[in-house]
Amino acid sequence: MTSFCTTTAARPAPEPSVVLADCRPLGIYVHVPFCSSTCDFCAFYQETPARGDFDRYLDGVERELELAAIDEPVATVFWGGGTPGLLPPSALRRLGELLRARLPSPPAEWTVEMTPSSVKEEKLAALREIGVTRISLGAQSFQPRLLEALGRLHPRERIFEAVDKIRRAGFASLNLDLIFSIPGQSLDEWRADLDEATALGPDHLSTYCLTFEEDTALYVKLSQGRVSMDMEKEVSFLREAECRLAAAGYRQYEISNYARPGAECAHNLNTWGMHRWIGIGPAAASQDRGWRGANPAGLDLWLDKLAAGERAGEDRVLLTPDLLAADSLVFGLRMNAGVEVGRVAARFGVLFPDDLERRLREWEGDDLLERDGDRIKLTAGGRLVADRLGAELLEILG
Ligand code: SF4
Repeated sequence: MTSFCTTTAARPAPEPSVVLADCRPLGIYVHVPFCSSTCDFCAFYQETPARGDFDRYLDGVERELELAAIDEPVATVFWGGGTPGLLPPSALRRLGELLRARLPSPPAEWTVEMTPSSVKEEKLAALREIGVTRISLGAQSFQPRLLEALGRLHPRERIFEAVDKIRRAGFASLNLDLIFSIPGQSLDEWRADLDEATALGPDHLSTYCLTFEEDTALYVKLSQGRVSMDMEKEVSFLREAECRLAAAGYRQYEISNYARPGAECAHNLNTWGMHRWIGIGPAAASQDRGWRGANPAGLDLWLDKLAAGERAGEDRVLLTPDLLAADSLVFGLRMNAGVEVGRVAARFGVLFPDDLERRLREWEGDDLLERDGDRIKLTAGGRLVADRLGAELLEILG
């Protein structure tokens, strides 16, 4: 059995700036913090826009881009939120132009998240014009009862109309988001959601297990005993997604993500691979130039910081080789291809503790993990408990 804990014993730990110099490529995440209403499960920072907020936001983005001083090629751009699609076409154009003016060349992949109700022909035309290549549509479910349970405002028909408009607008790539393990959801309803999603033929699907985050309407219902969690069902939902999506030609490449060959989300791969990203907008996180940090989660707070010439100052941590190596293992293990442990150690110049090797052997014995030389990856059983295994890894490496 290979041990990878001794391969780099003599290697000195590089300075953070050196670590990051090896961490190409660069991605940009733009947080658009506006939604017309709040979904019952949502814990993202977002607010209902007041008059003038779109302009204040765009002025802030302009200022933050100046401060970020991007002076090298950007591989991917991702607009998330919030609901970027809530911006009117003129604001989408301005946001796109602000970015393009700062980028030396167009990004190869440019994703924009939209809700079905926000998809309009004029908005899609504006996005195509500025160079967006990929739309990520928050379908969540096709069952009217479950859409209501999630507090989603769109009727199921809106999903079909939105996909039709996105296709006619000619985007290279389309992702659909689905949620499972919704209180009261049956396995048959989940099968129906998977089948309806694949019948629409997106080249990418993200399937997320519903989580009950504090300060959400669903969490309140959970604490009042009006809904409950069912861990056993979660496992069946996960298994069903893996089987059904594989049969429909989608390859699972990360625990929650499936794609046709070549349609994997490059932006997320960059993030999970512990490369670099610059976050623009309130609540957006950055990992760049030796630091990881986030902008304040509030439009006014963010604007105040920018006025003082500051960005990405919340929860700031120094990017040490140990931190990056630990995160590379945790995120790498969520990938179906797994992660090469010795290679991670060499990339960041770290020496993993012997406890890591011991724990990996235990997981192997429990059929949660398999090895191929230096590469470790989770088995189907391991993927079902990936969160627990990730937490254990962080404890060992922390
Ligand atoms: S649309 Fe997205 S960001 Fe907005 S409230 Fe719903 S889940 Fe949250």
